[in-house]
Amino acid sequence: MAKTTEAVVIGGGVMGASILYNLALRGVQGPVLLERDTLGSGSTGRSSGFIRMHYSTAVNTELALKSYPYFINFNEIVGGEVSFVKTGYLVIAPPESIGGLEHNVSIQKSVGVDTDIISVREARELVPGFVLKEDEGFAWEPGSGHADPSGTAIAYSSRARELGAYVALESPALDVETSGGRVVAVKTEKERYETPIAVVATGPWSPRFLPKLGLDLPLEATRHEVFLLKRPPDPVPAHPGVADLSNLTYFRQEGSDLTLLGNGNVEDVVDPDNYNPRPGMDHLQDLWVRLTKRVPAMESAEFFTGFAGLYTSTPDLHPIVDKVDGVEGLYVCTGFSGHGFKLAPAVGIVMSELILDGEAKTVDITPLRISRFAEGDLNPITYKFRVIA
Ligand SMILES: Cc1cc2nc3c(=O)[nH]c(=O)nc-3n(C[C@H](O)[C@H](O)[C@H](O)COP(=O)(O)OP(=O)(O)OC[C@H]3O[C@@H](n4cnc5c(N)ncnc54)[C@H](O)[C@@H]3O)c2cc1C
Repeated sequence: MAKTTEAVVIGGGVMGASILYNLALRGVQGPVLLERDTLGSGSTGRSSGFIRMHYSTAVNTELALKSYPYFINFNEIVGGEVSFVKTGYLVIAPPESIGGLEHNVSIQKSVGVDTDIISVREARELVPGFVLKEDEGFAWEPGSGHADPSGTAIAYSSRARELGAYVALESPALDVETSGGRVVAVKTEKERYETPIAVVATGPWSPRFLPKLGLDLPLEATRHEVFLLKRPPDPVPAHPGVADLSNLTYFRQEGSDLTLLGNGNVEDVVDPDNYNPRPGMDHLQDLWVRLTKRVPAMESAEFFTGFAGLYTSTPDLHPIVDKVDGVEGLYVCTGFSGHGFKLAPAVGIVMSELILDGEAKTVDITPLRISRFAEGDLNPITYKFRVIA
């Protein structure tokens, strides 16, 4: 017999969990989360967890800014532990990107982010032991840091369950049924959930799932490697999160003695069900050399571990957060292009507003609409460094 619910969210990453929580909080009765595997088993569980505000557009900056209080006070606002660590965040730009750096910082300041352009002298005080050049540019965010992405997804879904939501693991959604231009049900192998609302938050599986619903969106699952290096303790003390646009690396501290290191440029398009989750040693070598250009003492660091995860990328590296025209009750929330974790609290809120109030109020998400691709109205990206969109 079919089950009946007021809403079904498809995908148990940090986005689906945040949406589920916000729907339950707003009084939606018994919303259901369908997850094909386990919570956080997609991009979320392999995320680097950076939380920063430096972006190329106001919409991403505002989503990050509105999310920030949740990370620093998650237990008080939602309930649960997300392990936020405040380290500050430094963006380092080569001479040709200083105009872009100033442009981005002016966007951040206009929406109220605590950030500034700082001098090379001030930057040297923040990161002793780094090689910083006189002709480079520096932007500093004192309040930024990192948190635990899977922990955040689990905390949101646990709290949603306390509010009456139901989480079904190992339950891939097979189809969204429509009738008369409206959503009527979501089907899994074992169940049929009758519902007027279906939210697709399927991360890197979106390029496969959305075409089944007749939606052909420019989404790609791309593979991204991350490495952890054990720092030589004396020469390299704990450091802030860094985006190094000159050497196309990003890195942050992890725990007391590790540095997490990632790449800031292109990734390969892959099949999300059949990609190599292990790190490539050639890539490690290349990335490590680039890191030592900035932090020479990291040459004597030790390789600790590494892994690869999946981004869900769009042509303008901005997500798709919208309702689907022509199908009442169908919503899409995907395409976070490798930087969505830090946006998840606000994304859950704006999705609940879109669904329950007919429009997002907390942040104007018009730039994230589906139709921008057909209209050729893509969002601008300031840098070649793909992580900052
Ligand atoms: C290596 C790496 C580093 C990153 N670093 C950062 C960072 O530092 N900061 C940051 O902000 N972001 C970062 N990101 C990006 C961030 O992790 C993602 O944007 C975010 O986790 C996306 O969440 P999601 O819920 O959209 O997707 P996912 O976490 O992939 O969740 C989608 C879920 O849907 C499920 N699913 C798929 N199809 C179905 C179906 N048919 N039925 C049911 N369930 C289904 C999947 O199993 C999956 O659990 C990084 C990502 C990676 C991979």
